[in-house]
Formats: sequence, C-alpha cells, structure tokens
Amino acid sequence: MLRKFFIWLSRLNWAQRLITKSKIASRMVLRFVAGESIDDAVEVIRILNQQGLLATVDFLGEDTHTSADADDATQEIIGALEAIQKTELRCNVSLKLSQLGLMLDEQICRTNLSMILNKAAALGNFVRIDMEDSSLTDVSLTILSWAVEQGFSNVGIVLQSYLYRTADDIQTMPIKGMTFRLCKGAYNEPATVAFPQKTDVDANFDKIVKLLFERSKALNFPCLSESGRYPSIPGIATHDEVRIQNAIQLMEEFQMPRDAMEFQMLYGIRRELQMELVEQKYQVRVYVPYGTHWYRYFMRRLAERPANIWFIVSNFFKK
Ligand SMILES: Cc1cc2nc3c(=O)[nH]c(=O)nc-3n(C[C@H](O)[C@H](O)[C@H](O)COP(=O)(O)OP(=O)(O)OC[C@H]3O[C@@H](n4cnc5c(N)ncnc54)[C@H](O)[C@@H]3O)c2cc1C
Repeated sequence: MLRKFFIWLSRLNWAQRLITKSKIASRMVLRFVAGESIDDAVEVIRILNQQGLLATVDFLGEDTHTSADADDATQEIIGALEAIQKTELRCNVSLKLSQLGLMLDEQICRTNLSMILNKAAALGNFVRIDMEDSSLTDVSLTILSWAVEQGFSNVGIVLQSYLYRTADDIQTMPIKGMTFRLCKGAYNEPATVAFPQKTDVDANFDKIVKLLFERSKALNFPCLSESGRYPSIPGIATHDEVRIQNAIQLMEEFQMPRDAMEFQMLYGIRRELQMELVEQKYQVRVYVPYGTHWYRYFMRRLAERPANIWFIVSNFFKK
C-alpha cells in the first residue's frame, strides 16, 4: 500500500516541486545519492574502490521532455566516462533510455545511445541500460538488440523478476553478446503484467538466476575484466539475503568461479552486507547515482522501504 503510494507520488509534478525545494529533503537524499556533480560521484567511488567494491555510476534523470535535455544528458554521461578513465576507477555506467529521449523520439534515443556506446568502447568501458516501467520493456529490449547488431559488445540491460515475461525474454535472447542485471523491479505494475505477491517475485528471481548461470556456463563462464568495468557476466542486483544465499549455492552447484558473476547493490543500502560479501571474495558492484534530478529515484527508495522515512527523520532530529 505505502509502496504504491510513494511510487504514485514520484510521478506528481507538484509533489516533486515541493519536495525538491525542501532543504531537509536535499540533505536526506545524500544517504542514497553521491552528490550533485560527477566530481562528487568520483570521490564516493574512489572510496568504494579502496574498500574492494566495484561501481556503476548513474547520472540521475528520466522522462526527458526536450531533445536539448536529452543531448545534455548524453554529454554528461560521456563526461562521466571520461572522468572514470582519468581517475582510473573500477566503474562502468548505468543510464535510462527515457533520459536519452526515448519518450520524444526513438531515433533521437538511438543516436544518443550510440554516441555513448562509441565513447565507452573507445575507453574500454561498459554501459548498462536500466529497465523502466513495463510500457518501455519491449522498446528497451528492441534497442538493446539493435545496439548489439550494430556491433556494440559493451552494452547490457536490466531484467525484472516481477514481470511474468522475463523468463521467456531470456530464452529468446541470443546467448552470445547479451549480458543482464537481474533485479526484482521498482515500479507500480498491474497484475496483468507482474506478480502481485512478493513470494512469487522472489521465486521467479531464483529461477532466473539459474537461467542466467546456465547461459554463462554455455559460454564457459566469462569473467570480470581486469579493469573491473566490463561485465559480460550476470549481475545479481538485490539486498535480499535469501536471494543472495540462493545465488551462492547455485554458484557452487555450477562450480562457477567467483568473478564469473557479481552482486550489485544500491549506494547507501546494506553497506555491511556489501562488505561481508567482499570479504568472502565475491564481486560486489555498487550503483552510485549523482545529479540534481534525484526526486523519482529517492521516492522509489522510500517505496521499497517506508521505514527509511523514520530512519531519516529520526537522524535529522538527532543532529
Ligand atoms: C544495482 C541495482 C540496480 C537496479 N536497477 C533497477 C532497474 O534498472 N530497474 C528497476 O525496476 N529496479 C532496479 N533496481 C531496484 C530493484 O528492482 C528493487 O526495487 C530494489 O533492489 C529492492 O529490492 P531487493 O531485491 O533489495 O529486495 P527487497 O525484498 O525489497 O529488500 C530486501 C532487503 O533489502 C533491504 N532494502 C531493500 N530496499 C531498501 C531501501 N530502499 N532502503 C533500505 N533498505 C532496503 C531491506 O533490508 C530489505 O529487507 C535496482 C537495484 C539494484 C540493487
């Protein structure tokens, strides 16, 4: 109920105006967001790397309304790739297709994406396309297939275990040249397309992890690149310890090397669990968002765990 409320709130312009202007909210958001600029993100990622964590950086933004904004986002992401290179971070990039103009014109989005992929390829880096709500699943997968057909091997996408279609989507994707991050899914979806019950979403997550490991096995378990940027390996994105234990057990059954998959978690969430996994020699990549367009991202984080509100408010009053 509360989850749906926060996701609904995330799409309201008046609520966005009210909350983003609030100084309290701007301070609260720093629990989940590295800061406003790429320099802020670089500083955060440098520390994560020193702790043995990998990163993927995300310039916040979605549902871009003008082609000028889509161009600006494209240039910012290209700048982020350059900053990663210059500072030698073990980090790749995540982005949203709606940020690159998908809702305006699919061709604008493809052009922007290929500029980013070209830059990333020249710098030996990798780009992960985040998955948005189910109205964009088909077009996102089509654009991924198009990018792979264009010869880009440095791109992957996210799949969501709450969607009924996901297991079928995997089976129909070519094994070579396709790499996935699996998450549960963060949007409000109707029961016509997504499992309404969390237990079903979890069971489907475990089932899909197995499908991803089978694909990896068919390719002789490709491993993480030396630079820590290039994963043609499955990304298991969850903070759910039961899901993580299931993936570890499957890895053992498949006799998979530890750098043939990576766990992925969000910046500011379950930091102790991230470090425990690193100590056990698993790869862990942290998703590090930055920028001023934090509102929707922040609301989705509250939706996942409404207790965050009380945590944040109580910490605020302690200061
Ligand atoms: C690296 C990464 C990338 C993602 N990319 C996408 C994407 O492209 N598209 C998409 O739809 N979704 C994406 N998500 C979000 C995802 O779909 C889930 O909404 C989110 O990860 C919460 O689900 P969970 O698997 O952690 O499990 P849950 O069952 O929701 O949570 C398990 C436990 O994790 C902790 N936890 C989870 N969320 C929070 C939170 N917000 N604050 C504090 N503690 C929390 C709690 O301890 C909770 O008990 C991504 C998640 C990660 C980690």
